[in-house]
Amino acid sequence: MITQGAPASKAVTYSRVMLKISGEALMGDQGFGLHPPTVQRIANEVKTVHDLGVEICMVIGGGNIFRGLQGSAQGMERTTADYMGMLATVMNALAMQAALESLGIFTRVISAIPMDQVCEPYIRRRAVRHLEKKRVCIFAAGTGNPYFTTDTAATLRANEMACQAIFKGTKVDGVYDMDPRKHSHAKRYETVTYDEVLQKHLGVMDASAIALARDNDLPIIVFSLDEPGGFCGILRGEGTYTRVHG
Ligand code: UDP
Repeated sequence: MITQGAPASKAVTYSRVMLKISGEALMGDQGFGLHPPTVQRIANEVKTVHDLGVEICMVIGGGNIFRGLQGSAQGMERTTADYMGMLATVMNALAMQAALESLGIFTRVISAIPMDQVCEPYIRRRAVRHLEKKRVCIFAAGTGNPYFTTDTAATLRANEMACQAIFKGTKVDGVYDMDPRKHSHAKRYETVTYDEVLQKHLGVMDASAIALARDNDLPIIVFSLDEPGGFCGILRGEGTYTRVHG
C-alpha cells in the first residue's frame, strides 16, 4: 500500500529490537569518519527507547571508514578489503559504546571476530543474558565473514537474539517508489512485502538480508534517523515509517 505523508497509525509494542544504522549515519556532514556530536545525538535517541524498557541490539556499518567493495575496486584483494571493512565497524561500535555509556547506559560491544582486549567475542547465550540485564548489545565486525554486509549481520543477529523487528534508520522516513530527495512526487510505502522489495530493487537492504528476514518472518521497519524522537515515537505507535513484511 502506498501513502503520501500520512502517518502510519497502528500502534505496536516491542520488547526487543535490532537497530541497524549505516556507518555513514555517524559521519555528520563531514563526509568521512566519525562526527562525535552526531554519534551522541543517535545515542540520545537510543536512550529514549532504552528508557521505555525495550531491550536493544545494534549493528552499525562501517561505510564511513571503509567498504570492502571500494577497496577491491582499487585493486585490493576482496577478502582483505572486507576484513578492513569489518574492523571499521568495530571502531564505530566503540564510539557508540562510549556515547551510550556517557548517558549512563550499560553496553557491550560483541565482535564476530574475537579481539579480547577490545571487546567481547560473540557467544549467543551470553549476549542474550546481557539483553535480559538491559545492556545494549552492539554487534560488531559484521558476520565475521567477507562477502557479506552489515545489513545481513543485523538480520542474522536479530534472528539469533529473537528480536521482534529490525529498525533500519535511514535519511528518509521509509521506503519510496523512487528517491524522494530527487523526485518530489515520490510516494512512500506504508507497508511493502519482502518480495516486492526484491523484485522492484527498492534498496531497503541487500538481497541476502531481505531473504534472511523473509525466511524467518522478521519485520523490517524503515524510518528516519534524522527525525528527533523518531525511533522512540515508532515504538510508541507514532510517526511515519515503512514496514517490510511477508
Ligand atoms: N563486511 C564484511 N562482512 C560482514 C559485514 C561487513 O565483509 O559480515 C565488510 C564489507 O567490506 C562492508 C564493510 O564491512 O563493505 C562495511 O559494512 P557495510 O558496507 O555493511 O557498512 P554500511 O554501508 O552499513 O555503513
